[in-house]
Amino acid sequence: MTDKHGLQQLKNIDRDMILHPQSTPKEVSTNGPSMIFSTGEGIRFTDMEGKTYIDGVSMLWNVNLGHGNKELAQASYDQMSEMAYGSQFYGNSNEPAIRLAEKIVDKAPEDLNSVFYTSGGSESNDSAFKFARFYWQLKGYENKKIIISLKWGYHGVTISTQRATGIKEFRAFSGSSDPYIYNAIPHLTAAEQGDRTHPDYEKSIRGLIEKHGSNNVAAVIIEPIQGAGGVHIAPDGYLEAVKVLCEDNKVLFISDEVICGFGRTGKHFGVDHWGIVPDMITFAKGVTSGYFPLGGVILSDEIKQAIDTYDQDIPHGFTYSGHPTGCAVGLKNLEIIDRDELTAHAAEMGVRLQQGFDNLEKKHSTFTHSRTVGLLGAFELMRDRENGVPFKNHENESIAGDFVSEGSKRGLLIRSFDYEEGMNILAVAPPIIITKEEV
Ligand code: PLP
Repeated sequence: MTDKHGLQQLKNIDRDMILHPQSTPKEVSTNGPSMIFSTGEGIRFTDMEGKTYIDGVSMLWNVNLGHGNKELAQASYDQMSEMAYGSQFYGNSNEPAIRLAEKIVDKAPEDLNSVFYTSGGSESNDSAFKFARFYWQLKGYENKKIIISLKWGYHGVTISTQRATGIKEFRAFSGSSDPYIYNAIPHLTAAEQGDRTHPDYEKSIRGLIEKHGSNNVAAVIIEPIQGAGGVHIAPDGYLEAVKVLCEDNKVLFISDEVICGFGRTGKHFGVDHWGIVPDMITFAKGVTSGYFPLGGVILSDEIKQAIDTYDQDIPHGFTYSGHPTGCAVGLKNLEIIDRDELTAHAAEMGVRLQQGFDNLEKKHSTFTHSRTVGLLGAFELMRDRENGVPFKNHENESIAGDFVSEGSKRGLLIRSFDYEEGMNILAVAPPIIITKEEV
């Protein structure tokens, strides 16, 4: 155990020598890291100060099997001892990558029967954009390059996926950007069904396809349940309408399942809640429960078969595509989810979580707009729910951040979203192994 002096030394090294992702440099380079994680068990983790927290968001919505899972550690140890790494380049492969692909395909909707591996979510979406454009190129539609994404969608931080991300805060960084990507306003079922009189028609996916011409549009990317935008659930009818629209206009439908995939929502994939069969599914996070960086794209037979006709090397692939250790961990992770029926468990625990939310809503007039799909949930805070008065602190800022700080003091990690004035969204997405009592 590191003593107090040793801990301060570690914090100083971190402060001086690490540039943190998605953090405020001025803050971290002055104060050092807020928490240094140390150990974890189930839904709880402990930091180096010795304080234990309930992990209410599975870290970054990824530690689905919870912390300290020895079976995943063993799978990693076993594979590393056999052969830690072997590349998939030049047509080579490894057994864990093959077995995991079989398992993933088994869970995916019909017609999605092959996998391209990456190291995470951004790479997966970036790959899907490339495959969409490449597919149309192979089919003789050289100009189909535009990708349409949605406001409040989060798709990653590479130059293309950052542009696809429909949250202003994430798009501001660095300046360079993929020019073929447009954000639409989401969830306008009437517009997507063809109501041209809808006030936001031109900003809907349908309106954007009309404006740019379907000959120029390659794909639409949607998270069935938007995560980092504030846990927004697609209303019934919306994804169905977008799917028809895509088919009518020869536009591919990419479902970003980086958060939704592999059981969190109580089904294998988010699209399964609406019976949609996309052309590609992108995944990451839950495939290994965060125990190894791994992601990928599940491709439809149509796309795979088109790409299979190409007789030169495709200039795309990552050193860690199909990493044997990552795939062995992913395989064990999905085997545990199946063996312990954790997808059904997530659905059941989600109902219980929503019941708890409903009770809070009855008791507290500030607690509102709670929603869950399996164990992907959120609630909002308002000063006066009845009259729609937002909740702000004495500095006239949204209070969601204060709520998270207070939670942290009391040993609970949850996540807030306050992108707009008065927005107070709090996300709750605990590990899917959570028990009834723990919920
Ligand atoms: N897509 C979604 C829906 C996500 O939530 C995330 C990350 O939170 C990503 C893509 C990007 O994944 P990564 O951070 O692994 O690149």
